[in-house]
Amino acid sequence: MAKVVKFGGSSLADANQFRKVADIIRSDKERRYVVPSAPGKRFSGDTKVTDMLYKCYDEVCGGANAVASFLPIADRYNGIISDLGLTISLDREFEEITDNFTKRAGRDYAASRGEYLNGIILANYLGFPFIDAAKGIFFKANGEFDADLTDATLAAILEGYGRAVIPGFYGANPDGSIRTFSRGGSDFTGSVVAKAIGAELYENWTDVPGFAVADPRIVKDPKFIDVITYRELRELSYMGAGVLHQDAIFPVRNARIPINIRNTNDPSAKGTMIVHDAPKGKNEHIITGIAGKKNFSAVAIEKDEMNGEIGFLRRILTLMDVEKINFEHIPTGIDTMTLIIDSDDLKAHPNFVERVKEVSCPNHIEVEHDLALIAVVGRGMKATKGTATRIFAALSHANINIKMIDQGSSELNIIIGINEDDFDEAIRVIYNMFMLQE
Ligand code: ASP
Repeated sequence: MAKVVKFGGSSLADANQFRKVADIIRSDKERRYVVPSAPGKRFSGDTKVTDMLYKCYDEVCGGANAVASFLPIADRYNGIISDLGLTISLDREFEEITDNFTKRAGRDYAASRGEYLNGIILANYLGFPFIDAAKGIFFKANGEFDADLTDATLAAILEGYGRAVIPGFYGANPDGSIRTFSRGGSDFTGSVVAKAIGAELYENWTDVPGFAVADPRIVKDPKFIDVITYRELRELSYMGAGVLHQDAIFPVRNARIPINIRNTNDPSAKGTMIVHDAPKGKNEHIITGIAGKKNFSAVAIEKDEMNGEIGFLRRILTLMDVEKINFEHIPTGIDTMTLIIDSDDLKAHPNFVERVKEVSCPNHIEVEHDLALIAVVGRGMKATKGTATRIFAALSHANINIKMIDQGSSELNIIIGINEDDFDEAIRVIYNMFMLQE
């Protein structure tokens, strides 16, 4: 059985970090397929190589000399090579890249070279074969990721190698040109590789101890999550909890391959395990995580006898479909319903409320802005009484008004809508209620 190990940009930002990465890989012989990011920030205020590449390419498109503009990027790689005492030279690659920049090879091509070059160095340092992601990761003509072709091709290629370095973040279009995933997309590459080889585990090495129960910028020194299910994580990442690229769970989830978030700077810590099925036995905490997002608006619609009017919701949803507006939640009453919508979406459709009036002829319609949603997520809720009571008690003691409540039918989460101004405090008091008092 093999493990796929993905290392983020800060884990490969300089030679010292490369050494830690090599130690981690060498300490477990199952760590056989390695997916690197481009070198990230070495210190706060530093620039990621990916951002340097975008800037360099834009400069070249603006008329700058490619070789001169590329120099600071070449310096970063050469610094890593010489600090590690390696004998390889990337001069040929630098020449090809700057040539292609001059020929306008595209911003995606430009950004992808960060992972490409880092992959070559890491492969050399580890003594592993290097496999260009453009040979095994593919997009369709419409720009979508081609899962089937990728899976079959990567599996066939990697079968021939006991170990390999495959750079993250990019693949090839049908015409052979390079396309990248969205930012942070090396997480996705790692997941795709893990699926293709049927890995026993996908380890995602980063610079934090795992997933925090709540955002550390809001809750001081929060606890970290030991085990979270894919479904729980989906509820949390959808609400803005970072760390892992939000698409990265999909390739491995159905294949039931767990992901382990680990800290390169503290390799003995177990990190957060993301699993398909919750482990048996009682959870230590009822709540697994708390996350939230600001900038929502509520469109409250009231109409006499809405309850008996067949097709009312359909007309509104059809309108949203036509206008391409996404809704987050639709809490309903007997003769009322509220559409909770991202405020930016609503601003982009200034006629929406008028159109709702036209299709639904309400008695009253009202729009409220500056709402925040908080998701309290936990597989332990199902077996526990009083969870909602505790959330509401925490908020009421803090004098926070709840504007909306939504509990998913799976009893996995409770979503509450509050005023944006109460956002941080609400997360703190819910965290304290469940994590400090259990
Ligand atoms: N290097 C790319 C970025 O900075 C992709 C990644 O690190 O996953 O977004």
